[in-house]
Amino acid sequence: MERVYNFSAGPSALPEPVMKKAQSEMTNYDGTGMSVMEMSHRSKEFIAIKETAENSLRELLGVPDNYKILFIQGGATLQFGMVPLNLLNKTNQADYTLTGLWAKKAIKEASRYGKISVVASSEDKNFSYLPLLDKTKFNPKADYFHITTNNTIYGTQFRNLPDTGKVPLVADMSSDILSKKIDLSRFGLIFAGAQKNIGPAGVAVVIIREDLAGNAMDFTPSMLNYKNYIEHFSMFNTPPTYSIYMCKLVLDWLKDEGGVEAIEQKNIEKAKLLYDFLDESALFEGTAATADRSLMNVPFVTTSAETDDLFIRAATSAGLYNLKGHRTLGGMRASIYNATPVEGVQKLIDFMKHFESVNK
Ligand SMILES: *Cc1c(COP(=O)(O)O)cnc(C)c1O
Repeated sequence: MERVYNFSAGPSALPEPVMKKAQSEMTNYDGTGMSVMEMSHRSKEFIAIKETAENSLRELLGVPDNYKILFIQGGATLQFGMVPLNLLNKTNQADYTLTGLWAKKAIKEASRYGKISVVASSEDKNFSYLPLLDKTKFNPKADYFHITTNNTIYGTQFRNLPDTGKVPLVADMSSDILSKKIDLSRFGLIFAGAQKNIGPAGVAVVIIREDLAGNAMDFTPSMLNYKNYIEHFSMFNTPPTYSIYMCKLVLDWLKDEGGVEAIEQKNIEKAKLLYDFLDESALFEGTAATADRSLMNVPFVTTSAETDDLFIRAATSAGLYNLKGHRTLGGMRASIYNATPVEGVQKLIDFMKHFESVNK
C-alpha cells in the first residue's frame, strides 16, 4: 500500500524524507554499527543528536540565551502539573484562559496546587470561538498566566497574545509550535508535546526563562522539577532517546524547508485553500468562528451526522485518513500541520468537491 494522506490530530503525519532517513539509519547509525535505540544516552553520538536538536530549536524559534530548552517525558499533560508545581511559588495564584478541553485539564490539574482564576472562557459556545482577553480582569499578582495558543479540538488559534505585564506568560503550544514565527521573549515558559508538530510521541519540549526555575514546591518529585532538567541537560535519568532523535530529524528537515518563516507561508496557503472552499461549499461548513480560525486544525461538518459518517468512510477509501472529528465534538477535522504537503490539502478539497457533487 502507498502512504496515505494522513490528517491525524496527533500523533500526526511526519515528513516522508524524515521517515526515509530514519529507516536508512535504523540498524546502523552513522557507522556505529547500532541503532540510536540501542545506544547509551551518555555516548558522544547521542549527546550530539540531542545537542543538534536543541540548537535547531534555538535557531528555528529564535530562543534567547536566557531560556533553557528541555526534553521531558510525560507529554503536554504532565506539564499541566509541572507548571504549577514549579511556578506557583510567590502568591500561589495563577490566571488561566479556558478555551478548550486541554485548557480545562490544565486548570483542573493546577487547581490541586493553588488558587486558579479563569479570566476568560468560551465554554458557553462549546469553545467554538476565542473569548476577549480583558486586561482589567488579570491578576497583577499572579505567579503566571496560562494560555493555549492553538485549540486542537475546536480549531481556534490566538492571533494576538495578551499583555500580562510582569506576570510570566505560559503557553501550551502543543499543536502550533514551529508553525509560525513567535517572539519568545514575550513568554516565561512554553511547552508542547512533540507528536503534533515536532516528532513522534514520547517527549515534550519545554522552553523556560531561566529565572523561573529553581523555586518548585518542596514536595515536587525530582523528575518534575525543571531545575533538575536544566542542571542535567535533560538527562537527569534516561531520556526518550529515539523520540529525541526523530525530533532532531524533523528539525533538520524544517531547516531544509527554509525554517519557520517559510513553513508559515505554506501553512497560511494550505489553510486558505481549505477555508475558502468551506466558505463556498453548500454542503460543508467550518465550525470555528471565522476570526479565530486555526492554521493547524480545521473542524467542519456537513448537514447531518449521517452524511458526516458517509463522508469519513468515503474519504478513507480514497486514501484520505483520520478525518474523523474529536470524539467530544463529532463531525470532521483536518489537521494540517507542518508535515502536510499542499497537495494533500488540494487532494482533500478535490475529494470534498466530488463528494458534494454526488451528495447534494
Ligand atoms: C494534544 C494536546 C495535549 C495533550 O498532549 P499529550 O502529549 O497527549 O499529553 C495538550 N494540549 C494541547 C493543546 C494538545 O493539542
